[in-house]
Formats: sequence, C-alpha cells, structure tokens
Amino acid sequence: MIAAEDVNGKVLYKDDDHCFVWLGADPESVTGVVQTNQYLIINKGRGVLLDPGGIHLFARVVATASRYISLDRIDTIFFSHQDPDVSSGIALWLGVTTAKIYVSSLWLRFLPHFGIVDQRRVIGIEETGSTLKLPAGNSLKFVPAHFLHSCGQFNVFDERSGILFTGDIGAAVFPPGKETVFVDDFNAHLPYIEAFHKRYMVANKVTAKWARLASSLSPKMIAPQHGAVYRDASVGRFLDWIAKLECGIDILDSIYKG
Ligand code: FE
Repeated sequence: MIAAEDVNGKVLYKDDDHCFVWLGADPESVTGVVQTNQYLIINKGRGVLLDPGGIHLFARVVATASRYISLDRIDTIFFSHQDPDVSSGIALWLGVTTAKIYVSSLWLRFLPHFGIVDQRRVIGIEETGSTLKLPAGNSLKFVPAHFLHSCGQFNVFDERSGILFTGDIGAAVFPPGKETVFVDDFNAHLPYIEAFHKRYMVANKVTAKWARLASSLSPKMIAPQHGAVYRDASVGRFLDWIAKLECGIDILDSIYKG
C-alpha cells in the first residue's frame, strides 16, 4: 500500500540546484488499466518530464507536477517509447507547455496519430543515444534500451542524482493493494516482475547487453515507468536477475505453445 503522504509525489533526490521527483500514484486508478509512474526533474528551476503518460492521466499529472514547478518552466518532455500509456498525451502537453519532446527517431512519424503535433517541437534521438545539458551544467544521458520491449526505446540517466529511468524495464504489475514506492526486498518483488519481463522483453541477448550497460553507469536507483523504484541492494539484484533472464524468443515455444 502506498502511504497517503506519498500519493501526491515523493522527492527521490534533492540538492540545492537539482531534484528528481516521482509524481505519485493515481488515487482513482481503475482495475484493468496499466499503472504508470511519471517523473519530474528540476534543475536550476527548469523542468524535464519523463513519460508523462496518456490522456486519461493528463489532469492528475498536470496537478501534481504543478505542486513542484510552474508548467511554463518545463523545457523538455522525454518519451521512452511510443506506447499510448507513455505518449498519447503528447498533443495536450504541447498545448500547456513550450517544451521540446525527445523520443526515438523511429517514432517521429507515428506520434501525430495521437493528435495535432507540431513536428518542429519533436526531436528524434538517434540509435546510439545522446546527451542533454541541463542549466546547472550536469547532463541527462539518453541511453539505448532498444528491444526492451519497444524496438526504439531509450532510458534516461540523470548524472547528478544517479537515478536511471528505465521505461518498461523493471516494470511491476502489482495485485490490488500491494503497490509500494520502493523495492526493498527483491525476492518478494520478483513475482510482480517475472511474467511481464518474460513476455515483453525480446531476448536474453538484449537483456544481458543492457544489464552490462546499465551497470557501467553505477545507478543509485532504477526508476521504471510501471511498478516500484529499485534502491540500495535491489538495484544490483535486479541487474543480476535481468542479465540472466530467458525471455521472448528464448522461450518461443512456451509462448506459441508448440
Ligand atoms: Fe510499453
């Protein structure tokens, strides 16, 4: 269960110039709708939104983000991939902010299907990733995470906080009432992540490659778009687990049943 004081968000990292905020749980979440996490980075008073979500979440995310920053100070919106729970609110977000959108270059021509999109404000990230300088001088790294699950997917590594935002990697599906903000007991968390990763991730060849890349960043936390945030020992436990995971085309016969 998520504590009442965390429903409207929780600061995961904070120093004088920089903070990284989890934007809270949806108190009116509907059974059967994928639970999503949104995050806000504020650096020298300017904002970056990570996967702000679909249309039905828009009003709540606007309200929660506004508790931390005024919308006209949001310069950047990042979409990890093209799924509707990540990006279907694009036209609404372009309307209420002056932000530029960053997304894999693979999805540039698909996003207009979510509404009227000014393509001049959408920047395609090239396959190998890129770096965005923040006002205080430190950087956000757009790190490749292709095929996990989307064929064009990026993570964001926030150098200053050491938090790695991983999109669908690390996602959990909780039974009602079992939601938590953090993963503190990886073994207890495993039943909530296993089925999702086995079916949605493409192959161990990719999960192992990604685990090496993610480990090289030495993240302090892993923040996924669904489920709970990995911290302390659960970060390493998760990276070890996914490095060895057989999934997707590794277990094709069990998915096709023959
Ligand atoms: Fe997805």
